[in-house]
Amino acid sequence: MNADFGKKNKPDNLTDFETRKLVAPARLSIILLAIYLIVDGVAQIYVHNVAGQRSIIFGVIALALIAALHSIILQNPARHARYQTLFAVINGSVLGIGLWFIDERNHLAIYAIFLLTATIFATIWEKRAALIFIFVSVGLSTPVSIAENKISTANLVSQISFVLIAIVFIETIFRLSNAMRTRIEQLETVNEFARKIATSLEAEQVVNIVNAALQKAINADSYYLGILEDKQLALSLLYDEGEYFSNVKLPIDGTLSGWVIEHQRPLFMPDLRHEADLEGVQLVTVGQGRTSLSWMGIPIITAHMKGILAVASYRPNAFNRTDMELLENLGQQAALALDNAYHHDEVEKQARLDSLTQVYNHGYFLKLLQKEADRARATGSSICLIMLDIDHFKQYNDSYGHMAGDLVLIEITKIITKHIHASDAVGRWGGEEFAILFPDTGGSQVHGIALRIRKEINEMILTSSDGRQLPMPTASQGIATFPDETDDIIKLVDMADQRLYIAKERGRNQIEPREEHWGKMERK
Ligand code: GH3
Ligand code: MG
Ligand code: MG
Repeated sequence: MNADFGKKNKPDNLTDFETRKLVAPARLSIILLAIYLIVDGVAQIYVHNVAGQRSIIFGVIALALIAALHSIILQNPARHARYQTLFAVINGSVLGIGLWFIDERNHLAIYAIFLLTATIFATIWEKRAALIFIFVSVGLSTPVSIAENKISTANLVSQISFVLIAIVFIETIFRLSNAMRTRIEQLETVNEFARKIATSLEAEQVVNIVNAALQKAINADSYYLGILEDKQLALSLLYDEGEYFSNVKLPIDGTLSGWVIEHQRPLFMPDLRHEADLEGVQLVTVGQGRTSLSWMGIPIITAHMKGILAVASYRPNAFNRTDMELLENLGQQAALALDNAYHHDEVEKQARLDSLTQVYNHGYFLKLLQKEADRARATGSSICLIMLDIDHFKQYNDSYGHMAGDLVLIEITKIITKHIHASDAVGRWGGEEFAILFPDTGGSQVHGIALRIRKEINEMILTSSDGRQLPMPTASQGIATFPDETDDIIKLVDMADQRLYIAKERGRNQIEPREEHWGKMERK
C-alpha cells in the first residue's frame, strides 16, 4: 500500500528573504531603541551621570549584536539553525547583564528589546531558542537585581509582565506557523497527488496514491475508499489504526456512507455523539470495530460507478473544514482517475476480444497459448487444446441468413464458456472456428468436456430475433495435448486442426480422437 510520496524536507515554508522581511519591524525597533540608549547615555554624561556611560556601552553592544544577527544569521537562518542555542545564550546574557548596569529609568527600553529579540528568535528558529534566550536573560538579571535591591517593585512587575508577554508572543508565533505549515503541507500533498494521479491508468495504482495522500495530509485514525457493488460497499482501501484490511464489504443501507452516496453530497460530522440523527442512519463499525466520533465522507461519482471516500477519527472534532476541503479535492481527482482507469481497462479488454462473440480474438488467444505453454514447460504440467468448427456453416448461412449465423456463433461461445473453468480460455480462431485452451488438464478430461459441449449444442433450439425457431448446426472438435503429444505449440494447433478434419470426415458432429485414445495414452 505505498505510492511513495517523496519525503521532502519539511516544508520550510519561508525563504530567507521572507524571513528577513518578517523580522524587519522587530529589528528596526531594536536598532531605534539601541540608538535611543546611546543618545540618552551621551546626554547623561553631559550632566555627569555614570549610568550614561553604561547606556552607551549597552547601546553599542546591542547595535553590534543586531548587526551580527543581520549579517550572519539572517542571511541564512536555516543554515545557522545549529548555532541557535549559542546565539540565544549570548543574546540572553547581554540583555540580562545589561540590566545590572542600566539606569532603572531605561529598563523599559531594555524590556522592549528583550521582547523584540524573543520575537525574532521565535520567527527564524525553533521555540527552544526563544525560550533559552528568555530564561538566560531573566535568570541573569532578576536574581541579581533583587539581591542588590536595585529594582523597584514596579519594575519587577514590568519585568515579569514582559517575560509573560514574550512567552505568549512565542507561543502565538509558533501556533501560527504550525497552522501555516500544515496548510502548506496539505497543498503540497494535493499538488503531488494531482501530478501522480493524472498519470495513473490502473485502479489499483489510483487507490495506492489516494492512500499515500491521506496518510500524509489528514490526521485520521481510519479511512476507506468504497465502490458500490450491488447494494454493498466493496472497500478497495480500508485503513484502521495502523492496519490495512482487504476484501471488506459493508452493507450500505442506513449507513453514513449510504447517505453520502444516495444524496451525492459530502457529509461532515465533527462529533457523532451529537449529530448521528441523520434520517434513517445508524452507525456501523469497520476495521478494528471501534466507533468513530468524527467522520467525513465525500461521494465518488463517475459515469460508471458510485462510491465514497471517508475519513474517521476516534476523537471528536478531529477534523476541520480545511480537512474536508482537502478530502473533497482528493475525492474529485480520484473519481476522475478511477474513471480514466475504467476506460483504459475497457479499451485494453476490448482490444483482446472478438467484437461479435466477446471471446478472445486470434491474436490474444495465441499469446495466451504461448504463455501457458511456457508455464507448463516450467512447471512440468500439461495443457490441452480443442479446435471446434461449425459444420456446414456456409450452407446454414445460405439457408437461414447471415444474422441467424451470427446468432449461432454467439450461442456456441456461450455454451463453450458454460462448460469450462475460469482458468480455461476460449478464442475465436477464425470465421466459425474456435479454440479452447485447458491448462493443467489431461486429454480424457477434456474429451468429457467436448462431449458435454456437443450434447448441449445438439439439444439447443435457436430463437431468432424475429421470434422464429431455428435449428442449431452441429460442430466438430479436434483435441491435442501438450507436451505429451507435441512440445511445440504450432504443432499442437496443427495437430488439433488435423484431428478436427478427421472428425469432419467421420461424418461431422464428432470428436477426434475417440475416447479410447486417451485411455491408451494414460496406460502408456
Ligand atoms: P465444414 O463443415 O466443412 O466446416 O463446412 P463449412 O461450410 O462450415 O466451411 P467453410 O469453411 O466452407 O465455410 C465457413 C463459413 O462460415 C463461411 C462463412 O460464410 C461462414 N462465416 C464465417 N464467419 C462468419 C461470421 O462471422 N458470421 C456468419 N454468419 N458466418 C460466418
Ligand atoms: Mg465449418
Ligand atoms: Mg472453418
